[in-house]
Amino acid sequence: LMMYGQMTAGSWIYIVTQGLIQGTYETFAALAEKHYGYDLRGKIVLTGGLGGMGGAKPLSVTMAGGVVICIEVDKQRIQRRLDTKYLDVMTDQVDEAIKLARDAADAGKPLSIGLLGNCADIVPAVAAMDGFLPDVVTDQTSAHDELAGYVPHGIPYEEALALRKSDPDRYIDMAFDSMAVHCRAMLDLQKKGAVVFDYGNNLRRQAMHRGVDNAMDYPGFVPAYIRHLFCEGEGPFRWVALSGDKQDIEVIDEELKQLFPEKTRLVRWLEMAGKKVAHMGLPSRICWLAYGEREKAGKLFNDLVASGRVKAPIVIGRDHLDCGSVASPYRETEAMKDGSDAVADWALLNVMTSVASGSAWSSFHDGGGVGIGYSMHAGQVTVADGTPAGEARVTTVLRNDPAMGIFRHADAGYERAFEVAEQRGVTIPMAK
Ligand code: NAD
Repeated sequence: LMMYGQMTAGSWIYIVTQGLIQGTYETFAALAEKHYGYDLRGKIVLTGGLGGMGGAKPLSVTMAGGVVICIEVDKQRIQRRLDTKYLDVMTDQVDEAIKLARDAADAGKPLSIGLLGNCADIVPAVAAMDGFLPDVVTDQTSAHDELAGYVPHGIPYEEALALRKSDPDRYIDMAFDSMAVHCRAMLDLQKKGAVVFDYGNNLRRQAMHRGVDNAMDYPGFVPAYIRHLFCEGEGPFRWVALSGDKQDIEVIDEELKQLFPEKTRLVRWLEMAGKKVAHMGLPSRICWLAYGEREKAGKLFNDLVASGRVKAPIVIGRDHLDCGSVASPYRETEAMKDGSDAVADWALLNVMTSVASGSAWSSFHDGGGVGIGYSMHAGQVTVADGTPAGEARVTTVLRNDPAMGIFRHADAGYERAFEVAEQRGVTIPMAK
């Protein structure tokens, strides 16, 4: 089945915000290391969207020590994030949001603020201000979808929702106009000195439909902060307890900390996640592991199931924010060294690799994060059932899947991928 599944929902391994928090935390932690040398303490992030994925941002930024203002047009979405404690406070006043942010940043305290309003109104207003410049600006409104996602400015929210149904063409027209205004304001903030990056929602490409020809002047988050990790076959790796018992996840958290004590970011994450991340649906966990590490973790899961310390099989999958399974020129494969951004072979090779390696199910999608027609990507899910055959499947899939990321980046000429291959004994099929 070839489908428009966006990402993990299409491969039946969607774990709601339990999944996104870690990826978002990883991105903001990498950004902080690159620009500020440590964490986000004392820094203010301005962003949009508090939906399924965007809702992870407030908690991720505060976990990295920073302050965040999240603009959201739907009051109920803000309330939901307050109720689940992903968000600290809400206001509908821009000035109040800025004052709260400044006070917290000056005191070095983390704080997340939901600001009710439309990004296409507020981001340009902030860009026009004299006395305030956020340190970091990004966006996670659902800009990839100009009809069912992005909400245009210039009309009240409820009227916009009605227009979506009564006159979709007019709605789309207004949404494209608003996205252009929004994207231009982000470019202005970049010119004024803010660190601006695209967070995988295709706002830049959408704004180009309305003549914002320099939309790509600010980078995507992958080339800016993630690609060096992709060269190591590193990426998000997730597991779900089929018992439905969160204690199984806690047992695995502890075991993983002991298996990888040298990975301090991972250990810090597992400790924070255990305390702060609420389970939704089947209990699950996510972390970033590289080539060699994932198969070790897979064997650990299978051993824990075999010994009965974990009550039922563990399902293992991953995101499509991945090193070797994606062709997405406005996200994962943006600005590749050899210009191979749109080469689709890697997604196809990856799905064949996971089938041959023994995944429980393999999936192939269109559209992940950026919208229909802009990307192709493959997913895999494997089951640690505690049997020797289960161990063989889990370790084979979890060795070969990240290896595809090393191959993909070596093929594109990234030195780091060759170094990692040499250090970890990966035979690269293509010459240097
Ligand atoms: P969502 O539809 O659940 O939420 C989007 C939110 O944006 C909604 O709450 C909506 O009310 C709000 N919104 C829309 N237009 C607005 C506007 N003009 N001003 C203020 N708020 C507005 O979507 P989601 O699951 O949170 O995903 C957000 C975007 O991020 C999508 O485009 C998605 O494809 C992309 N995404 C990125 C990653 C990544 O790894 N970086 C991962 C998954 C999804």
